[in-house]
Amino acid sequence: MGLFDTHAGLSARYDAARSAGQMPTGVIMDQLLSASEAIINGKRTITVGTHNYLGLAFDEACIEAAIAAVRREGTGTCGSRVANGSFSEHLALEQELASFYGMRHAMVFSTGYQANLGIISTLVGAGDFLLLDADSHASIYDACKQTQASAVRFKHNDAASLDARLRRLAGEPGNKLVVVEGIYSMLGDMAPLKAIVEVVKRHGAYILVDEAHSMGVLGERGCGLAEQEGLLDQVDFVVGTFSKSLGAVGGYCVSSHEQFDILRVACRAYMFTASLPPATVASTRAALKVVRERPQLRAKLWENVHRLYNALDGAGFQLGSTPSPIVAVCLQDEATTLAMWRALLDRGYYVNVGLPPATPSGESLLRCAVSAAHSQDQIDGLANQMISFGQASGALQKLRGSAKA
Ligand code: PMP
Repeated sequence: MGLFDTHAGLSARYDAARSAGQMPTGVIMDQLLSASEAIINGKRTITVGTHNYLGLAFDEACIEAAIAAVRREGTGTCGSRVANGSFSEHLALEQELASFYGMRHAMVFSTGYQANLGIISTLVGAGDFLLLDADSHASIYDACKQTQASAVRFKHNDAASLDARLRRLAGEPGNKLVVVEGIYSMLGDMAPLKAIVEVVKRHGAYILVDEAHSMGVLGERGCGLAEQEGLLDQVDFVVGTFSKSLGAVGGYCVSSHEQFDILRVACRAYMFTASLPPATVASTRAALKVVRERPQLRAKLWENVHRLYNALDGAGFQLGSTPSPIVAVCLQDEATTLAMWRALLDRGYYVNVGLPPATPSGESLLRCAVSAAHSQDQIDGLANQMISFGQASGALQKLRGSAKA
C-alpha cells in the first residue's frame, strides 16, 4: 500500500471539485482592499468568509501598532519563550487579557488551535476524563489524541446527555474536564451554558469554554458567552483566539486557578514552538483596547447579523438555530453547495463552504461570516444573490418541499 493510499477517497472528491472549478480550499486573494473587500480572480469581491468580526484586521490603530513594533523589535522572536525568554510585550498582553476577563492568569499561544491542543492535553492525563460536545472543533478533538485521559462525547448542546455521562463516571477517581464552545464554528449556535455549568458543578467537574467565535461578539465587555450569561466566575478556563474578533493570529487561555502558571513548563504546545511575533502582539493589544472602548462595533455587527439572518430565513433557507456572526446556510447536498458557492464567487461574494466530515451530522453548508465592517448594501447584496441562486437552481423549492414532508 502506498503512502498516500489512505487518502484515496479524499483525492477523488478533491480532483472532482478541482476539475469542476469549484475549489473552496484553493481561493487566492490577489489583493486585500479593506476589511470587507478583496480582489479574487481579478475581480472586486465582497468577503463574507473571514472571521474578521469587528473589522479590526484593517483598523488603523492596530496597523500602526504592528508597524511600530516591527521597527522596534524586529520581524520575529525566533524561538520559544521557555528557551529564549519572553518579550515584555508578551507579558503586557497576558496581563491585559487577564484583567479583561477579571481572572488571575493568562497565557498566550502561537495559534488558537495550539491553545486548545496544549491546555486540554496538559490539564488531563491518565485516569482522567475529557467530556466534549460532539460538535467540538478539530483542535479539541486533536487534544484528545494527545492525552491519555479517556475522551467521552456527549450530545451537542445537551446538558442532560452530559449529566448522564458524568453520572456514569461518578465512582471514578480521576478528574473530569468538560469542554464546550461559546459559539459553534459550523452552525453558529451557542452552548446552553447555564444548564451545562449547573451539571458540571453538581458533579464536581471542571469546565473550559472555547470562546473563539464569541470573544468580541457576546457579553457587555465582549468577553464572550460566559460573560453574557453571568458565569465568568464559574468557568475554570476560557480559551480564545486572536484570529477572529482581534484580527490577527494567536491564541490564549485565561484562568483564576492558583497553579495555572505551572502550565508554562508543562504544556508542550507552548514550550516547543516559537512565540508570537512583535507585530502580532502589538496589533492584538491595540485590538483588545478597541474591543474594550468601542462597544458600538459589536452593536453594528449584530445589526448586520440580524439583517442577513432575517433575509435568508424569510426566503425559506434552512439556517443555524440562532442568529450569530456565523450564518450557516444548510443545503441539500455537496453538489448544490459547491455550485452555489461558485455562483456567489462569480457574482462577487466570497463565503465559506462546510462539507462532511468537518460538519455536524454530515451537513453540506455555506457559512457566511458577518462583520461590523460590512455595509447594509453588502449584506443585502449577498442575501439577494443567495436567494436568486436558490430560486433559479430549485434549491429553495426543494427545501420548502422537504419542510412540508
Ligand atoms: N476553536 C474554534 C471553535 C475554532 O473555530 C478555531 C478556528 N476556526 C480555533 C479554535 C482555532 O483558532 P486559530 O485559528 O487561532 O488556530
